[in-house]
Amino acid sequence: MKVVNKINWKVVVEPSQSFSLGKTNEAHSKELQRDCETIVKEIKRHIDNIQSVTVEYDTEELCSFCNERWDTDEDGCPTCCNAAINEWQNIQMHRHNHS
Ligand SMILES: [Zn+2]
Repeated sequence: MKVVNKINWKVVVEPSQSFSLGKTNEAHSKELQRDCETIVKEIKRHIDNIQSVTVEYDTEELCSFCNERWDTDEDGCPTCCNAAINEWQNIQMHRHNHS
């Protein structure tokens, strides 16, 4: 019979991530990293029986113009908004001029 063991026990702590208006993604990112590092320090100071505390994150690719998920067609042209398409076309033209 199949036995299912529970392994890789972890306590996952998520920082408060409310986005403050007027902040860039980069500034927001730095702020969250700082918050996470503070939480790690606090956890180590106050709690026993911890082997390790790490800060983990996933990455996502977003368009800097419209903030939608970055997606491209088979030529590499972005598909989300005109601003991104224009930027891509300018880069393509530039490349052709130089080759
Ligand atoms: Zn876009």
